[in-house]
Amino acid sequence: MTETVTNWAGNITYTADELHRPETLDALRRLVAERTLVRVLGSGHSFNEIAEPGPGGTLLSLAALPAAVDVDPAARTVRVGGGVRYAELARALHGHGLALPNMASLPHISVAGSVATGTHGSGVTNGSLASAVREVELVTADGTVLTLGRDDERFGGAVTSLGALGVVTSLTLDLEPAYEVEQHVFTELPLAGLDAETLETVLSAAYSVSLFTDWRDPGFRQVWLKHRAGRPLPGFPWAVPAKVKMHPVPGMPAVNCTEQFGVPGPWHERLPHFRADFMPSSGVELQSEYLMAREHALDALHALDAIRATVAPVLQTCEVRTVAADAQWLSPSYGRDTVAVHFTWVEDTAAVLPVVRRVEEALAGFAARPHWGKVFTTPAPTLRELYPRLGDFRALVGELDPEGKFTNAFVRDVLNG
Ligand SMILES: Cc1cc2nc3c(=O)[nH]c(=O)nc-3n(C[C@H](O)[C@H](O)[C@H](O)COP(=O)(O)OP(=O)(O)OC[C@H]3O[C@@H](n4cnc5c(N)ncnc54)[C@H](O)[C@@H]3O)c2cc1C
Repeated sequence: MTETVTNWAGNITYTADELHRPETLDALRRLVAERTLVRVLGSGHSFNEIAEPGPGGTLLSLAALPAAVDVDPAARTVRVGGGVRYAELARALHGHGLALPNMASLPHISVAGSVATGTHGSGVTNGSLASAVREVELVTADGTVLTLGRDDERFGGAVTSLGALGVVTSLTLDLEPAYEVEQHVFTELPLAGLDAETLETVLSAAYSVSLFTDWRDPGFRQVWLKHRAGRPLPGFPWAVPAKVKMHPVPGMPAVNCTEQFGVPGPWHERLPHFRADFMPSSGVELQSEYLMAREHALDALHALDAIRATVAPVLQTCEVRTVAADAQWLSPSYGRDTVAVHFTWVEDTAAVLPVVRRVEEALAGFAARPHWGKVFTTPAPTLRELYPRLGDFRALVGELDPEGKFTNAFVRDVLNG
């Protein structure tokens, strides 16, 4: 490639032969039909080689395609182009008085890239972002356009697809009427003495709940409650209300974060932790995340507490969230209500990887599924045991992409080891 292309974090430099930014659907279809190895680069917020086609391959950016956001107010749906990011989508929807059910911690990410990796926000009743998708339009290996809706038996493999089925050129999402959210931040939630029932109550205390710790001390330094305005707000006696506006990474300026202290505001300006016009998170970091059945939440947190002396030196912050079960075969929340434990590491791969392995050992007894877009070392045979519908997904790849045009090393590992 003539230009150097990296992911957002800068820990991956793509080795593809070429990067194309087609401006029309027809140009994209021709490119796909002509090339032998193709991967799409979304907004590049993944931390591993999931988007890497490898030498000889073609990287496609959809950023130059028309950024379609076609709202159908009567049906309460939106058809969104394959390169559109949540920030622009959310602003357009809010203008129509409509909303998404949930968002991730940042609005900067592309919709297609997010749902491809099982990206999620938090909330015991909120599924991953893919669960809002009702229809996918794909350009498949021979350049033809295929539309798969919820009534198609292949739909379970079509959304959280790791980009292995084709180029997603549009997604249709379910919407609801716009709503307001209040964000309340608490500090000093102890882990000691927390029983499983109380932890479940804490995690269910608002529409979306996040617990943060840097594991330097036991327990949680911060609790973020995102409460839907107009619903009853239960008391939160387990922690202390914050006195100042907070950032989840200790020492970072809270100005980057969405409004707190219970000030009601539009859903898309409260559900993400980070404001669309500022750098999300710390910006200098790696990330990992593991998703487990929620019944393991307390035991998993104690298992991490037992290794916090190993974890803390390379950790910026750790976030605990919940995700409701969904039906995407490769979703880390497939078939089980989930607790998700996320790690924002320092930006030092050599120092972080051994700790990632320690975390995976500590969580091994809980069938922990790694986030597809983050750093993990879970061996391929273990990954395959964690996904009961992997065989169906492999068959779908075989049907839609028999020559493996969209199968890179990352996907090959998942499918075949
Ligand atoms: C600061 C930060 C905060 C984050 N917070 C969260 C969070 O709160 N929750 C969470 O779950 N994750 C979070 N993530 C992870 C992030 O959401 C995922 O990595 C997600 O995949 C990013 O979307 P993207 O468009 O950048 O994907 P990319 O990294 O560009 O691509 C991911 C995959 O999707 C494929 N893809 C992208 N677009 C298409 C398309 N149009 N057609 C076919 N395949 C496509 C790519 O080929 C690749 O396989 C965070 C990441 C960062 C950097």
